[in-house]
Amino acid sequence: MSDGEKPAIAPGERPPWMRARAISFDIYDSMKHTLGSLHTVCESARCPNLGECWKSGTATFMIMGDICTRSCKFCAISTGRPRPLDPDEPARLAEAAREMKLRHVVITSVTRDDLADGGAAHFAECIRALRQTMPTATIEVLTPDFEGSREAVAAVLAAGPDVFNHNVETVRRLTEPVRIQARYDRSLQVLRAASEMAPSIPTKSGIMAGLGESDGEVIETLRDLRAAGVSFLTIGQYMRPSANHLPIERWVTPDEFGWFKERALEMGFRHVESGPLVRSSYHAAQALSG
Ligand code: SF4
Repeated sequence: MSDGEKPAIAPGERPPWMRARAISFDIYDSMKHTLGSLHTVCESARCPNLGECWKSGTATFMIMGDICTRSCKFCAISTGRPRPLDPDEPARLAEAAREMKLRHVVITSVTRDDLADGGAAHFAECIRALRQTMPTATIEVLTPDFEGSREAVAAVLAAGPDVFNHNVETVRRLTEPVRIQARYDRSLQVLRAASEMAPSIPTKSGIMAGLGESDGEVIETLRDLRAAGVSFLTIGQYMRPSANHLPIERWVTPDEFGWFKERALEMGFRHVESGPLVRSSYHAAQALSG
């Protein structure tokens, strides 16, 4: 797409297509009480798709605490020294997912560079607890990069998730300013390792658009992800959590998201969610059944 086709909406103005869908508070209230001290990313990130996802039986749980050892410039999670792991968390997670009658459970976490295995064994415990409690639910993990450790990726895969997701988040050029302690190639390495070690488990990744990347850089990133074996893809609009985070450089239009989706499908991605309000877990279950 040429620059001339881009809309003249200032980054400070919210375009009409970014209006969040109304949340069904009936669903929210009925499920909220089952969560106890566990928290879902759906709530803490004020995800615009919460009502739709919870109604369809999908929710994303954040494990290993709410303090991250990293400080990505797009993320609202606090940076600091995390607390020790809670050995009861896998059982509590499984029980909450059962009470919420979930059909597709997404497990994600803060990055735990303080742990020798990055928390891989804990991810595996959570998957096993869920399998035991909810044998028919599908399980997706959205992991940190484990500092590129193949052993950590192998430990998570050995527990048998249905989808292995690691978000590259942005294009190569912007990785340093956006994900300060991460490396673009290290994320690709994690995805490649997962695809090679468990070819029957789909590998998934995603990026945010609107951080200052060009269309050409997005296409280059999609090519890199395909070359790393990724088959499920999400692309959504970057939203600035606060004035202390990176500014929104542009509003990507629904047509542009559609164009990215077409290019991605041409490259061979099996399932693509690309739209202004798309987040990592949006329509996650459909990707498996599609
Ligand atoms: S590693 Fe993940 S949780 Fe931690 S700051 Fe970055 S995006 Fe947020």
